[in-house]
Amino acid sequence: MRSLLRADVKCYLCGFVSGQIEGQIGDRMTLQNFRAAPNTDGPRLTAKGRICCTRCGGGVFLDEWERVRPLEVVTFGPAKRGRPRKHPLQAAS
Ligand SMILES: [Zn+2]
Repeated sequence: MRSLLRADVKCYLCGFVSGQIEGQIGDRMTLQNFRAAPNTDGPRLTAKGRICCTRCGGGVFLDEWERVRPLEVVTFGPAKRGRPRKHPLQAAS
């Protein structure tokens, strides 16, 4: 079974991590294996279609590859916002 590896996509200029690449060591950065960081607006591309820094548009490089543990499955559900109160505040009489 081929193990999945993951590497941070980091900016040369500001060090911001725009996301991660999933695959094997030596893989190229493509939109297919790129996973945008949850706090970004998704992949930002240069005019030539290369992935660049989401924050400043600078060039990016791959940080160290890390093994992805199969058991480490963490799902982040969308934050619930504007949930109505169960007991609305009563106006003081
Ligand atoms: Zn940057």
